[in-house]
Amino acid sequence: MSLMAMNTGIAEGQTAAQTTAQAGEVKVRFLGTGAADWNGRDDRGELRRLSSILVDDSILFDLTAHNPEMIPSGIAPQTVFYTHSHGDHYHPETALKLGVKKVYLSQTWYDIAVQDFKRAAAKLKAEMPQIIPLHIGQPVQIGNLSVTPLPASHATEKFYEQTLIYLIEKAGVRLIYATDTGGIPAVAARLAGIDAHDRNGKPITGLIMEATMGMGYDDDFRVFAHSSVACVHQIVRVIQNAKRYTPPAGQPVYLTHMARTMHGTQAELDASLPQPLKAAYDGLEVVFKSPMT
Ligand SMILES: [Zn+2]
Ligand SMILES: [Zn+2]
Repeated sequence: MSLMAMNTGIAEGQTAAQTTAQAGEVKVRFLGTGAADWNGRDDRGELRRLSSILVDDSILFDLTAHNPEMIPSGIAPQTVFYTHSHGDHYHPETALKLGVKKVYLSQTWYDIAVQDFKRAAAKLKAEMPQIIPLHIGQPVQIGNLSVTPLPASHATEKFYEQTLIYLIEKAGVRLIYATDTGGIPAVAARLAGIDAHDRNGKPITGLIMEATMGMGYDDDFRVFAHSSVACVHQIVRVIQNAKRYTPPAGQPVYLTHMARTMHGTQAELDASLPQPLKAAYDGLEVVFKSPMT
């Protein structure tokens, strides 16, 4: 009797604890952390797939043919948010083969995406997913996650395309996923609440940001469209000083979209990146927690 009561007590306690923790947690699995110049393992033995993340085992941010092998078995994400139309982020056939049912992307190239998906669906004899246009600053609710598209500083050959970065929110977690972008544009900073000009702003609690360029590549020509380690580090210092970045103690800022030719190996990055920056790697799983929990 007492044993049964004890067991029940433990079981209930565990369930309650998990539910509370999950409410203030966003799980991110990196399915790829490389820039467009990666194509398989290189002569150093390093491998980064094209950049993509899986959030809470259900929502993808970008997806190319590199990434499905990094999705754990038994997990079938049905939603994808695209940052932009570059081929190292967007590949409709891969999404259809995976069984994606909902596709979110900027309204600025919605018509083109519909045609791309129609062509891919006809070729694969697959069903068309629902394609939903996104508008800057207008959040989309998916279950208990809110996803807000923000403008990126990036350009594709479609000059009318507004490329996107994302603010992902759940309970006390406010996470920015920023690739591909040269810094954080002013409108994105205002909308996310991290620009100290706005006294009513709101801190973010997590940051995943691209660092296409490594240390020593600050003056690279890609500066208008991509960020360097130094650029990410500067942004982190600024938002820390302005109290617009309040992560749980010890939580790193994760770097992604690292160019093969402008970064050392993962071991070299682990040894040399300035705090609190950490190079993500393919298969890394991180739980972003609310600072309040
Ligand atoms: Zn890219
Ligand atoms: Zn790009």
